[in-house]
Amino acid sequence: MDKKKIKEKLEKERDTLLEEMRDMGKLNTDTGEWDATPEESDVPETDQNDMADRFEDFEEKSSTIKVLESRLNSILKALKNINKESFGVCEVCKKDIELSRLEANPAARTCKKHLNKTSK
Ligand SMILES: [Zn+2]
Repeated sequence: MDKKKIKEKLEKERDTLLEEMRDMGKLNTDTGEWDATPEESDVPETDQNDMADRFEDFEEKSSTIKVLESRLNSILKALKNINKESFGVCEVCKKDIELSRLEANPAARTCKKHLNKTSK
């Protein structure tokens, strides 16, 4: 398996994710988690509908950022483990995990065949 190639891919995706996340929110240094930032607006908040819309946008952003964050965390974890012997090796059959599976889930610990064989 070409770990170097995977590493490059992961690093690139990490940077892309971070960029997207910075667009939507910021890292809360107290909790270590990402929070969406509310939409800033110059318009006075007199219109109730507008406020509701903005709240919805914020909710949507919050849920998107959570998805990105969990993806980012699995990438960071993979990057941390990539130099280990066990990286990219199925826990069950000890064979190389399919590249396509690693790309979809860099933190994967089993091959496609043994997808459901671990309790995670
Ligand atoms: Zn396996």
